[in-house]
Amino acid sequence: MFRAFKFIIIAALLLALAWWIGSLPGHFEAQAGGLVIDAGVPVAVFGLIVLVFVLVALVLALRGLWRLPGRLGARRQLKRKTQADQAILRSMAGLAAGDGKTAEAEARKARKYTADAPLSLLVSGNAARMQGKHDEAHGFFTALSRHRDAAFLGWHGLLHHAAQTDDHAAAADHAVAAADAYPGSVWVADRRLDLAVRRQDWPAAIALARTPAATGALCAAASGSAPDPQSALRWAKQAVKAAPMLAPARVALARALRRGGRERAARKTLLAGWQTAPQPMLADEWLSPQLDKLARAKAAQELTAGNPEHFESALLMARTSLDAKLLGEARRHAERCRQTGTRDRRFYMLLADLTDAEPGHDSEHRAALRDAVNAPEPAWVCDQCATSHAAWQPSCRQCGKPGGLIWKADAVEAAQNQIVTTAP
Ligand SMILES: [Zn+2]
Repeated sequence: MFRAFKFIIIAALLLALAWWIGSLPGHFEAQAGGLVIDAGVPVAVFGLIVLVFVLVALVLALRGLWRLPGRLGARRQLKRKTQADQAILRSMAGLAAGDGKTAEAEARKARKYTADAPLSLLVSGNAARMQGKHDEAHGFFTALSRHRDAAFLGWHGLLHHAAQTDDHAAAADHAVAAADAYPGSVWVADRRLDLAVRRQDWPAAIALARTPAATGALCAAASGSAPDPQSALRWAKQAVKAAPMLAPARVALARALRRGGRERAARKTLLAGWQTAPQPMLADEWLSPQLDKLARAKAAQELTAGNPEHFESALLMARTSLDAKLLGEARRHAERCRQTGTRDRRFYMLLADLTDAEPGHDSEHRAALRDAVNAPEPAWVCDQCATSHAAWQPSCRQCGKPGGLIWKADAVEAAQNQIVTTAP
């Protein structure tokens, strides 16, 4: 409605203008050389208008011709960019699908259209890595790391590449560069921690640890490999402060104290550890100065006095009593173990040894041996990947998580795992 109204107004104005020009009085005469123009004023005005239009059209046409090569170039460039984008997308799809051959072929096409573009380099590096062409991958990621906005992606690729080829020194350098390119990156911090743990560079690893459990485990490891008693004691104290329930931390502190001749303090920390979280490592360290079997049984009694009802206390008392040939005591503590409802293999092994020493318990001995076969073995289990470790480690051997190993003597849960893994 508004447009129609506008059209009518413009048409009326043009008509009025034409009428006004048509009614102009007078005569126009011009002479150029032999050419004589003689016309009325309205005709001359219309001629002038037509001449202006022709000149404007001519200028526009010339300008279009002047710009034609540039426009053709831009169109060609846009076409190449579109083709590169499509190749990059197809290469990314190949990478996601695990199809390294397609990813590599499409990445090559992308480079043909946009050779040094960051995205072309990124897919090329990843495709080369997937195809096992490590030198090529290294070249692409190095080129990518020189792009200001994509430098982190270049270092990210180089770091992966170095880790894959077990070049830990290069990986550590790339991790530092990646941290500079993207300050505050959690991924880089985790990789740097992982690398420090692999190199057993405990001070560096402790500085990068983000949880008390990781700090406790790494400090315990640092204490164990410290070159001097002062450092060993300092690291061990830090380990117990960060993870007071972690047996290896308590053991590290007790050893460091014993190295310094502080036996009483060493015993105190082991007693405190047993009271809060009994674990066989604490008992081993507690009993280590005692060689006589009767003395060991007596020492075990001192250790377990602070937590007598715990299964580990009963088991330790039964084992040390049996070793000291105190069969009555061993039987009493073994029955206490049984009352906890345990299915722990160590209990059945103890029972087998006890019934072997006791006369007239042959059938019970055979039953204990039979039960021991399917009984679960307690272990240090990673809380991230559930990998079992026979001995404590500062980090998981499977996934590398530091401080993730938890002592698991949970008989029922472990027994169910055992049944699942042995089923046909
Ligand atoms: Zn793990």
